[in-house]
Amino acid sequence: MMRDTAAVHAGREDLTRLGTHVPPLDASSTYPLASVESGGASYDQLATGGRPRPHDSLVYQRLWNPNVARFERALADLEGAEDAVAFATGMAAVTASLLAAVAAGTPHVVAVRPVYGGTDHLLATGLLGTRVTWASPDTIAAALEPDTGLVIIETPANPSLDLVDIGHVVAQAGEVPVLVDNTFATPVLQQPLAHGAILSLHSATKFIGGHGDLMGGVVATTGEWAERLRRVRAITGGLLSPQAAVGLHRGLQTLPVRVRAQQATAGQIAEWLSDRPEVAQVHYPGLPGCDPQGIVGRQMSGPGSIVAFTLRGGRDAAAAVAEHCRLITHAVSLGGVDSLIQEAAALTHRPVADEAKPDASLLRLSVGLEDAADLIADLEWALGATHPVAAHSQVHELTNG
Ligand code: PLP
Repeated sequence: MMRDTAAVHAGREDLTRLGTHVPPLDASSTYPLASVESGGASYDQLATGGRPRPHDSLVYQRLWNPNVARFERALADLEGAEDAVAFATGMAAVTASLLAAVAAGTPHVVAVRPVYGGTDHLLATGLLGTRVTWASPDTIAAALEPDTGLVIIETPANPSLDLVDIGHVVAQAGEVPVLVDNTFATPVLQQPLAHGAILSLHSATKFIGGHGDLMGGVVATTGEWAERLRRVRAITGGLLSPQAAVGLHRGLQTLPVRVRAQQATAGQIAEWLSDRPEVAQVHYPGLPGCDPQGIVGRQMSGPGSIVAFTLRGGRDAAAAVAEHCRLITHAVSLGGVDSLIQEAAALTHRPVADEAKPDASLLRLSVGLEDAADLIADLEWALGATHPVAAHSQVHELTNG
């Protein structure tokens, strides 16, 4: 099945037989047990990360939910993975992945910056009992220790869209599993497992939900890792709600169309920004110079719809642009149908150590489904605010006209 078809139909194969057109919501927090003994056997099966057998009770929502399982099946299909495990948020997915490494007695993590500020914070604090060595994509082999349990990379990376060659990282990691945060690319543009990664993680809150009204996280992986992650989820409780699973599963149906449309507009905006005198540098994998290793076309089928740019006027100019956008919402998060802009160093990457913080003037723009001309007009107006006198006179004209 081609990917667009799978996006529409995966995880829904049994619906016609069930006589329903959309997945029925099963909101049960608990399930009837046939007997103490059979209930206990079902508990053992699910709490250790297994799938329910035909005779099993589902016991309790924290152990299994049919809507979550449908979403997981569909996402795994799109990622070309054996299985997937869904969580309440992207950070719950990162947490479960780290806890699985700790539980295996291998608490050392090698990670390549930049990563999302929350992931950076979690690794840097060692809150979960892990310890991190920050490496570059070329120094991963040297950073490995006997108890390294995970290598973590993001590509394209939040917030500056740095690209990492997954195969190069996997080759250096040897036996150590590589986790790729695939949130920015989505499975539409990149399938990390095809390049040797063992775990492909998403903040499903972003492109997969796509409408800014759901939170979730998901990891596409091997059958063995899926069992480990389900076990951690059953014990620690970071599960996705069935209601959110229904929304995320629906989000997958339009994901390929949204990603392609948003990407087309992002390309136009990135080019337009490159010609603006107020802009120091544009980071977008589709621009010449931003992809020296030729990752787009080889590892990613397209550059995506997140654009980052720095301003000649520094942090104050960036703040002025974010605050003056009128159509584009000044807000964190990304990947939705409406465009969002935010200053990474001050917000999403606020907890990151000074030496690894993004440029203070870097704005991260998530391009939505609006018309490119309207977004460009909004950015033009907001960039005008970096010249205080000009912006003031425009406000004056508007309020008088
Ligand atoms: N990974 C990336 C790349 C992100 O951008 C985010 C959130 O911004 C996360 C993980 C965390 O996801 P969530 O906010 O759903 O917990």
